[in-house]
Amino acid sequence: MRLLRSNRREQRSAPPAREHFDVLIVGAGLSGIGAAHHLQQRHPHKSYAIFEAREAIGGTWDLFRYPGIRSDSDMHTLGYRFRPWTNAKAIADGPSILSYVRATAREGGIEDRVRFRRRVIAAAWSSAEARYTVTVEHSDTGERSEVTCGFLFVCSGYYRYDEGFTPDFPAVERFTGKLIHPQHWPEDYDYTGKRVVVIGSGATAVTLVPAMSERAAHVTMLQRSPSYIVSVPAEDPIANRLRRHLPSRLAYAIARWKNVAIATVVFQLSRRRPGFVRSLIRKGLERELPAGYAIDTHFTPRYEPWDQRMCLVPDGDLFAAISGGGVSVCTDRIASFTETGLELESGASLEADVIVTATGLNLLAFGGLQLSVDGRVIELDEMIAYKGLMLGGVPNFAFVVGYTNASWTLKADLVSEFVNRLLTYMDAHGHRQATPASMDPALAARPLLDLASGYVQRSISQFPRQGAKAPFRLGMNYAQDLYTLRHGKLDDGTMRFTSPPRAEQDPAAETLAA
Ligand SMILES: Cc1cc2nc3c(=O)[nH]c(=O)nc-3n(C[C@H](O)[C@H](O)[C@H](O)COP(=O)(O)OP(=O)(O)OC[C@H]3O[C@@H](n4cnc5c(N)ncnc54)[C@H](O)[C@@H]3O)c2cc1C
Repeated sequence: MRLLRSNRREQRSAPPAREHFDVLIVGAGLSGIGAAHHLQQRHPHKSYAIFEAREAIGGTWDLFRYPGIRSDSDMHTLGYRFRPWTNAKAIADGPSILSYVRATAREGGIEDRVRFRRRVIAAAWSSAEARYTVTVEHSDTGERSEVTCGFLFVCSGYYRYDEGFTPDFPAVERFTGKLIHPQHWPEDYDYTGKRVVVIGSGATAVTLVPAMSERAAHVTMLQRSPSYIVSVPAEDPIANRLRRHLPSRLAYAIARWKNVAIATVVFQLSRRRPGFVRSLIRKGLERELPAGYAIDTHFTPRYEPWDQRMCLVPDGDLFAAISGGGVSVCTDRIASFTETGLELESGASLEADVIVTATGLNLLAFGGLQLSVDGRVIELDEMIAYKGLMLGGVPNFAFVVGYTNASWTLKADLVSEFVNRLLTYMDAHGHRQATPASMDPALAARPLLDLASGYVQRSISQFPRQGAKAPFRLGMNYAQDLYTLRHGKLDDGTMRFTSPPRAEQDPAAETLAA
């Protein structure tokens, strides 16, 4: 009888069994699905799962549903290195990109590893156990649970999903028409015949404006200041020709390298000869816009090319819509919202049935998860990134933040390759812990994303920073990263490999995952 009672007590006090994964990936967007593919290829025997806060695969390409949603970089570089992009359109629409990501997940059996509605809210590293205890919130029930993992790979993107950025507009509540943020586009919203004002001049605005003009009575793009906008062919004739004559993988690899080379030359030229690039862009605008158009007012930014990300428009669709009369651009500031539209600081007013606030994103580092190492909370803004993918002083942790001057996936693929090399090296040498040393705090640190864009400047201080020198410097240079991340030494004097003696295992932590 006594024995029974004590067994019952033991049963009651035993913590629930925690699942353990060799690798836990956070986020099932483009990067998380790519990370899983690389891991399965290189380490088929490692257990892993993807924890995804939403109920769908695809991240950005599932969330954003506004009219015309598309990539603004070419799919030969936004596509994965391992999966050729075979559509004719190089600047692709959102649904095609989503299908591409989902097909990758389906074909690799990756989708079965995704745990949906699981938001990772904290990860606590224990050096004694050489593992993270990860706290997960079930976004459907609010319930919390814990799992453990040996390596944490964060592919959570770089912005908040629950809300986009909207400035404090004066008297916005007076407006009686429809106010929409592109991040929360109402399903099947019909704007046929309506007068539309799109506030903004970034990638989202220049996508929305020509797309909405196909059905709206008129669309006005209202911008505080102009951005660099460049027309590119929607289809890449060289890539399409290569695909007709060469095996798909070879054609894709050549097109990818061609586009990397072009993007690198444009970026470097913009940095070294900004005047020359400015004049090239202007000549393009003169060709595409009606004669006498006020290019100085509406399309001549106050900053240099590539101080902010350049906006690309496929086949000059924005300029064609302006030339056709369905779109006008207004460069002014909002004085106040009114019942029927906007009053501007110049004294002019804009009447609108619909106002779209294409005013940007709210950045968020690492999906908002709180990191700690042996009980010490990691303050991200005090951290220096190592090779733009790990954090000084934080073991067995990597993250994907893509390039700002080239396609995100170029970097995401390289980060995954690096993580797999690191895991192979650790297995081969029996190391359980890989920790980049912290950078000397006396050395100057710079923001992780070096862009002057408003959305970056607003929140970049919450992100880790980068150092002035390798391996803490983030190069934003694919060719350089390719060498460092794919071929560079892992035991580089900064990465510390250790094997803490195995502490007695937490009886609750068991390997349950296959
Ligand atoms: C409208 C738009 C257009 C863009 N166009 C381009 C382009 O043309 N070229 C380019 O290079 N880049 C572009 N970008 C940047 C784009 O975000 C990246 O290209 C890429 O899609 C990022 O993929 P990701 O998987 O890293 O992040 P995301 O697509 O943001 O996916 C992250 C996933 O992680 C999940 N997640 C986040 N936090 C947590 C958490 N704590 N726990 C669990 N899950 C979590 C999210 O729910 C999401 O599913 C664009 C961005 C936007 C917003």
